[in-house]
Amino acid sequence: MMAAAPTASPVLTLALSKGRIFEETLPLLQAAGIEVLEDPEKSRKLILPTNRADVRVVLVRASDVPTYVQYGGADLGVCGKDTLLEHEAEWGGAANVGLYQPLDLQIARCRMSVAVREDFDYPSAVRRGSRLKVATKYVAIARDFFAAKGVHVDLIKLYGSMELAPLTGLADAIVDLVSTGNTLKANHLVEVERIMDISARLVVNQTSLKVKREALRPILEAFARAGQADKAAAAA
Ligand code: AMP
Repeated sequence: MMAAAPTASPVLTLALSKGRIFEETLPLLQAAGIEVLEDPEKSRKLILPTNRADVRVVLVRASDVPTYVQYGGADLGVCGKDTLLEHEAEWGGAANVGLYQPLDLQIARCRMSVAVREDFDYPSAVRRGSRLKVATKYVAIARDFFAAKGVHVDLIKLYGSMELAPLTGLADAIVDLVSTGNTLKANHLVEVERIMDISARLVVNQTSLKVKREALRPILEAFARAGQADKAAAAA
């Protein structure tokens, strides 16, 4: 009888976006014994090798991470809760997307907020029941927030530089991510509502979870341990 051919070890593809998510995921990967061998800021490569022949990183736009993982272009990925909520809304709910979301990684933390020009009286506009023009990239989050508050809004979808919208008269308010608050301050905007805290999530393709369970397990466990250690350090 012929010996069975050795099965190739499954290749795991991890989708990350450049910048804060990439940088803050690196220590979690290190905790799982994975070193990314190229610096995305210095290389034009979109597929980065790691010290593990069976693990590679693909660099995609932040808002494309859930799409890559959902369709199996990547087995797992890291993206902000904001990105995930908007993606799920596009699909009519989390159940239709079917991404396995095992972990809040507690990284890339910031908040989703409403901001207006310093001279705009937001509380009285809300009290009077005025209809507000709100510019944002995060239309689903903004729609849900203002609907729950009973405020009528016209949402204006933008893809970047939201801060400009109130300054040019395009909108009364913006819904955007705020970290230090420096960008708002530099543009004479003030935060008037905090919608939700945001952090990065690990998402896993459901088929990969079944078919590549053994390869995924050490990574998921190391990410979970690193997340717990971070939480303990923050609480200390
Ligand atoms: P900051 O000036 O530190 O408050 O940062 C605000 C700017 O950075 C805004 O343009 C945000 O859209 C962006 N930003 C802040 N935190 C994040 C994050 N975790 N992920 C993506 N963009 C962010």
